[in-house]
Amino acid sequence: MKRRSVLKSIGGIGGLLLAPSISFGASSHEKRPVLRIAHLTDVHLKNHLDAPARYARCLHHVQQQSPKADLILNGGDIVFDMNKEQLNTINEQWKLTHHILQQECSIPVKYCLGNHDIWWDENNKGQAIYGKQYAMDQLHLSNPYYSFSKNGWKFILLDSVHLDIDGTWYIGKLGDAQFNWLENELKNTPSNVPVLIMSHIPILTATLMIEDDIVNKWQMLGGDMHTDTAKIIKLFYQYPNVKLCLSGHIHLRDKVVYNGVTYICNGAVSGAWWNGNKRETAPGYGLLDLYADGTFDESYVNY
Ligand SMILES: [Zn+2]
Repeated sequence: MKRRSVLKSIGGIGGLLLAPSISFGASSHEKRPVLRIAHLTDVHLKNHLDAPARYARCLHHVQQQSPKADLILNGGDIVFDMNKEQLNTINEQWKLTHHILQQECSIPVKYCLGNHDIWWDENNKGQAIYGKQYAMDQLHLSNPYYSFSKNGWKFILLDSVHLDIDGTWYIGKLGDAQFNWLENELKNTPSNVPVLIMSHIPILTATLMIEDDIVNKWQMLGGDMHTDTAKIIKLFYQYPNVKLCLSGHIHLRDKVVYNGVTYICNGAVSGAWWNGNKRETAPGYGLLDLYADGTFDESYVNY
């Protein structure tokens, strides 16, 4: 009896150890999965082109994954567009966003803001209702950048989108206050805690080099990628526990590994704003398995 129960418990442990290697590939048997996350970005939700039903289908697809995702990271451009819209159009987009999430999704969601989640209005500068406040209120965020910890990983969600020097259009950057905050966050995170960073605008991406009709130079806009990339990368270089940076914005999928940090720009849930593929990237979302040792597996899933 004793021997049998010992064997039984060994079998139980063996089963636990074997389970991850079955679902995550034979080479990963030493990794302990701690968290499965779905990275949904650029949903651009509005009631057109069947977007609400297709977004619901995407959410169902995420929830049908086995094992089920523990957390959804929404990378911004949550609603179709707020930039220069009228209040009733903005209200409708957010109402729809809340309704679908409430009806179709039981997984917790954490957000960062995209350029289309900001109510730009150059003619009404200075009024508290404009800017990021509307979206922050909708998402119950007291700050557009923040961090949290879950299952041994640290998550840092950044606010990429800021007005350009001349104040007429946006560029990707952190700004001094946020950069100092990020520096402190990393300084105060134990070196054995792996860090995942999410921004709307990519910190580093190769997708911008895919251009038609290049003659002798590529053109990259400050709104397409962070303009403070070198500064951020230099900071990350001091913290080898920064493992992974997720972004969207380009609606194209790529993966760049630099100095041991993996920068993944995922395709859009909306594809080309609900009009099929953006170039060769189909509508989809990122699915990531995070392990206790700071490694991860990831794939881009077309729903
Ligand atoms: Zn977008």
